[in-house]
Amino acid sequence: MMMKYYGESIYKGIGIGKILFYSNVDYEITKEEDDNVFDVSSEVERFESAKASLLEELDDTYKRAQGQVGTDMAKIFEGHKAILDDPSFTQAIISMIVDDGIKAEYATMEVCNSYCRIFDSMEDENLRAKSMDIRDISMGLIRTLKVSGSHKLTTDEPVILVTSNILPSQVIEIDKSKVLGLVTRAGTARSHASILTKSMRIPSLQGVEISSDWNGRLAILDGFKGLIILDPDQATIDKYTNKLKLKIDKEKEEDLKFLKDFFKRRRDMGGKGMEVFANLNNPSEIDDIIETGVDGIGLFRTEFIYMNRTSIPTEEEQFRIYKMLAESMASKRVVIRTLDIGGDKKPSYLNFDKEDNPALGYRGIRVSLDRIDLFKAQLRAIYRASAYGNLAVLYPMITSLEEVCMIKDIVEEVKEELRYNKVSYRDIDQGIMIETPAAAIISDYLAKEVDFFSIGTNDLTQYTLAIDRENVNLAPLCNSHHEAVLRLIRLVVENSHDEGIRVGICGELAADTELIKDFIEMGLDEISVSVDNLLSVARKISEIESRQ
Ligand code: PEP
Ligand code: MG
Repeated sequence: MMMKYYGESIYKGIGIGKILFYSNVDYEITKEEDDNVFDVSSEVERFESAKASLLEELDDTYKRAQGQVGTDMAKIFEGHKAILDDPSFTQAIISMIVDDGIKAEYATMEVCNSYCRIFDSMEDENLRAKSMDIRDISMGLIRTLKVSGSHKLTTDEPVILVTSNILPSQVIEIDKSKVLGLVTRAGTARSHASILTKSMRIPSLQGVEISSDWNGRLAILDGFKGLIILDPDQATIDKYTNKLKLKIDKEKEEDLKFLKDFFKRRRDMGGKGMEVFANLNNPSEIDDIIETGVDGIGLFRTEFIYMNRTSIPTEEEQFRIYKMLAESMASKRVVIRTLDIGGDKKPSYLNFDKEDNPALGYRGIRVSLDRIDLFKAQLRAIYRASAYGNLAVLYPMITSLEEVCMIKDIVEEVKEELRYNKVSYRDIDQGIMIETPAAAIISDYLAKEVDFFSIGTNDLTQYTLAIDRENVNLAPLCNSHHEAVLRLIRLVVENSHDEGIRVGICGELAADTELIKDFIEMGLDEISVSVDNLLSVARKISEIESRQ
């Protein structure tokens, strides 16, 4: 039978799905279990090392929070570090270990409980809310001491999570695609967990009389009415499914409005500051891109026109696509990158040889300079389309000055042919990808030969760190903030500006919200990111600009 339970709404959203009942078992630490004979000094050492690893873990949590909810909210975890660093808190635990001869887990629990009792009895709601932060830190310490692994709330299928209480560090670890809603028994609207839940827009209720029997049952969470409906009937499910769809549409609308306002504000300011462009892989995505009001297309990966087909696309076919892009974006810049085929993208109709090291092999500009027929057809298509908008052309996988000179000669031949045939074109900007360490290192020379640089951090990272970008086993080693990569980026920006040419980043790193402030400070003219990342990037830039 359908049952309704009420609580306080934290975020007004709707979630429909099965319940996962989660219990924070780590709290259940008994004195008996831990009250064994032990060496006091090694126990204090064990505690100190747990504290040190938790401090490190909190740095990661802070970074994750920055990406998810922004720097201001992330400060919650700086606060956690401050509590952990506060000698009165940790000293109380150590004294208990030493004076009472009890294990670190139990001492932590005891000190946590006595702190929480004090905070829980306070009048001020903000101070009362602090007790969950103390619990979060204490639980982190106990978890580290017990080496009991992660306290992340993980689930394979999307669920409504029901738990007696939730900690700030658990909220920030939530995978939004897997948690449709959150229901807790405890908590206050001012707690850091609630503030984070709200920022992450997870429909949620608290103060609900939950029960472990709910596990696995279908439920509807209605944050607008502060209600959870257990075992809903079909008519109720249908009604809420409709409401949910409307709500998702509304959220999308709000996000889109944010983006439009963001780009309009920047245009009204006269286009000052670092421009934000979008990367385009599939021409059919162009409408989604235009809708955002974005400043331009910083990278169109033309190889996608060559994939999933059985023959080479003709010049005419390509011309129509480039012209459509130029016209659709009106006066906004569209950077068309010539074929970056080879490596991991090898259409069978081109009959490329098998290579032992494709990433270091026949790809990008090497193919174009070898198959001049293909290259010229593509250049003709781009130059013909240039008459219809604001196009620029970009060449991938450059490693030497000789390649650039060869390209420029070929482009001159193409233009000559067009003039001869009385086909109009514009003298568009020609740029190169800086995505090999060689190109970055000689970027001072290269800058004299081209109109702009676009830094391809995906390949630049792969080649600088000697880590295959396709090898999932190596992913943990791939530090995208590696100083070597950052130094190369700085060098390229300096060299381009010394020569007075434009420079941008179009690799994935451009969307790294932790680095955006650095990119602005470096003086990058442009970042170009995938459409999915436009919102987080725009939010980050707005946040940075609002502080200036
Ligand atoms: C890059 O290498 O960073 C880049 C943008 O090009 P692609 O990902 O297409 O190789
Ligand atoms: Mg690349």
